[in-house]
Order: sequence, then C-alpha cells, then structure tokens
Amino acid sequence: TIRMDEGAAELLDTLHRAGYAAYVVGGCVRDSLLGLTPHDWDLCTSALPQQGMELFGEEKCIPTGLQHGTVTVKQGGGLYEITTFRTEGTYTDGRHPDEVHFVPDVREDLARRDFTINAMAYNVKEGLVDPFGGQADLQSGILRAVGVPHQRFTEDALRILRLYRFAARFGFAIDPPTAQAAQELCAHLDCVSVERIEEELAKLLSAPAPAAYLDEKILGVVLPELSPEALAAAKPVVDACPAGERALPVRLAALLLSLGEDGTRRTLRRLRCSNACIEETAVLVREARGRDGSFSEDRPLGWDPVAEGNRAGDGMARIVSEEKATVTPDFTIYARRLLGKYNLCTVQRLAALGTALQPEHAADFAALSELAERLDADGVCCRVSQLAVNGRDLMAAGVPAGPGIRKVLEALLDGVIREEYPNERQALLAAVQQLAAS
Ligand code: ATP
Ligand code: MG
Repeated sequence: TIRMDEGAAELLDTLHRAGYAAYVVGGCVRDSLLGLTPHDWDLCTSALPQQGMELFGEEKCIPTGLQHGTVTVKQGGGLYEITTFRTEGTYTDGRHPDEVHFVPDVREDLARRDFTINAMAYNVKEGLVDPFGGQADLQSGILRAVGVPHQRFTEDALRILRLYRFAARFGFAIDPPTAQAAQELCAHLDCVSVERIEEELAKLLSAPAPAAYLDEKILGVVLPELSPEALAAAKPVVDACPAGERALPVRLAALLLSLGEDGTRRTLRRLRCSNACIEETAVLVREARGRDGSFSEDRPLGWDPVAEGNRAGDGMARIVSEEKATVTPDFTIYARRLLGKYNLCTVQRLAALGTALQPEHAADFAALSELAERLDADGVCCRVSQLAVNGRDLMAAGVPAGPGIRKVLEALLDGVIREEYPNERQALLAAVQQLAAS
C-alpha cells in the first residue's frame, strides 16, 4: 500500500543494482501507511557515503552530513537524503550524537530511531520492514518509544518533545510507560540546544489541535516564561487558531499573549526564532492588547477607539455587536487603517487571532478578512504612498517644505480613508487649500 515516489524508486534501483541494501525509511513510510502524502522521502542504505557519491556522481551529490553518513542526492528535480545504516551513542551536546557507527543491517538502523511508527523501512523487493510493531501502533494510534523509553530519552532528551509533537500531529495517544519516562526526564530538555527545541515546538504548535498535548511540565521546561495559569488560559485559544506552518505566528501569539509584546519578543529571541517570525508574532500580540498593554475581552483587535477619536464613534465595537456582519463604512475604515500599517497577510492573521480570541465575532472577522483582500487586490488607497499627490505636488501648491509636508499628506490620507473626498489629484489639492485655510 506504499505508492513509491518516482525519484526515490530510481535511487533505490541504482543502489540495488550496485549490490547495496537500500530502503525508504522513517516519516515517508509512516505517512504513506496513514494515507498521507509524504513531504519528503528519506533513504537509508548499506552503502557508505563515499560509495554513494561514487555511484551517483559528485555532481548529483551534496555532502550535507558526511560524518553522520548523510548525502543529499539530486534526482528528477527533487532532493533526497540518503543515510548510511548507523547506530549512535548519546547526544552530550544535545545536538549531535557523540559517535556514529556504520552498520550493515537495516534493523540495527531502525533500532536507533525514536518511535515505533518512525522505525519502519520499505522497498519493493522486501516489502515493509517493521521490527518494532510500528504498523500496529499506527493502526491503534499509539506513540511508543523504540526500546526502553527511559534509556532512549536519556540518550537524547529532545525525543521527549518529539513525542508530544508526533502525538499532536496525528492525534495519537502516548503509551503509558513512554509517557511516564517522558514526564520523569523532562528536566533534561534544558540541556538540548535551543535550535532543536524551537524546531520541534514550532511543529507541535502547527498540529491540528495541539492544546491537549501542551503538557504543563514539558512546557514549563521549554517555555519557563509562561506560567501554568497563562498556559491553561491560552490552550483553547491556541486550538481555535488556524493550523499549519503558515499560521505559526498566530498560534505563537495566542500562546504568548500574556507576556505582552516585549515579553513575546524576548522569549522568541531566546528561542532563536527567525526575525520574520518574531516580528509577525509581536505585531499580533501588540494589536491584541490595548495601547496600555492590557488585554480586554471586548476590545476588537487593531481598532483603537482613542486614536479614532469621536469622529468614528465607537466604530468597530458597534459593528461587531450587530447581529449580521455587514460592510459598513466604519468597517471599511477599520480595514483600510490596518492595511495602512500592515500587509494583507498580517491583517488576515490578525483576523484569525481575533476569531480565536472572540469566537462570537467570527463572522465579523471573516468579513474583515475578505474585505481587506478585496481592498488590497483593487489597490484601494490605504497609505500615503498610494495618494494621488506627493510631497512635490504639495510644495508646488504652496505648502512650505519641511516636516509639515508629511503631516498634510497624513491628513489627506485620513480624509480619503473616511471618504470625505476621493483619491484624485484635483480633489486632494482642493482639500489642501481647505486645510490651509482652517
Ligand atoms: P516530518 O514529516 O515532520 O519531517 P519525520 O519522521 O521525517 O517527520 P524528522 O525529524 O525529519 O521526522 O526525522 C526523520 C527520521 O529520523 C524520523 O522518522 C526518525 O526515524 C529519525 N529521527 C529523527 N530525529 C530523531 C531523534 N532525535 N532520535 C531518534 N530518531 C530520530
Ligand atoms: Mg522529515
């Protein structure tokens, strides 16, 4: 029942014809058996890295991790990691095994892998190689360590976090002895490099419904900034956010909201998240909290009644309390203000976070998201740079050069967003005269 990837099949064939043992292994076998499409196909083989490079030719190979036995091979437009069968010792530095030994038998290689569902290999000749009952565990939805759990988590504590990551991804239960060892040894996670932690944490948070797998004790070690109370409060919000890698900043913001913008930045910087991810998450946290830094249940995201002043009345607050979501002028103002500050993707993430925080306003946020998409596609003016006049036009119209120019442009934008006049040259220049007169 494994529909083999074409490139992987080619590579296995080449290895077999040269007399080596070779299989696809790990995640791709697991995902195939689950009926999912693997995102990459890893191979393992008895060929040593040097032998693999000779067989495939240097120009097709990238020596990504020779000392660990891994060569990346280009085949049919794809990239494939081919790793020599190996065993490994402990991970003293929490990053790499201290020593790896190349071995001739795939079963020994499978024995060093973390969980039974990840410890299966396959090729067409031999079918499934499954010495630890991975297929049965897949069928009953169980995460179970290969071998003695205590020993496996002592060798590499990151496996504790991976345990919850895979359980969350598939909605699996954790076999009790494996869960018990993970709980007992979770303090060891603080010796694991922060890069490895971040990668697993991101994957855990990208699962369909991770809340049940955000274990208090384990999160306490990898995210000590977050109190147990804050974690408990964040859980339902995290699950209500969209899943998947692209929505990671939304999930992170939901989880870290209680830390505020600065705390969120500090925490994500400590975890060495990418700058883009830190910035995006921090913006969401900032917008979800008031200008005084507090979070208020009834304050719609990104709408600042103080900045809007009395002109817009209670704006969004009034709109969201209506039964049906309709696109009123105020709603458009709200969307345009947001698009003036952030790109469409961020505005849509804000709407997603708003929905998770205030599910009773889901329809409003959906409408906001749709409206923002349309405004953005139509190129509707939301920024000074989109105005039909620029600073030079203003100077030509008699506005004195200097910082005042920027102020006038912003006032013009405000009028355009409020639809007091259209974004047209003549209308804007007339408005300038009026501004000057007032
Ligand atoms: P994903 O689809 O998320 O990439 P994956 O199973 O491919 O899932 P990886 O982290 O890419 O997960 O690891 C590939 C394989 O290597 C795993 O299936 C597992 O067999 C093995 N593995 C990875 N990390 C460890 C580890 N820390 N300890 C033991 N085995 C590991
Ligand atoms: Mg993988």
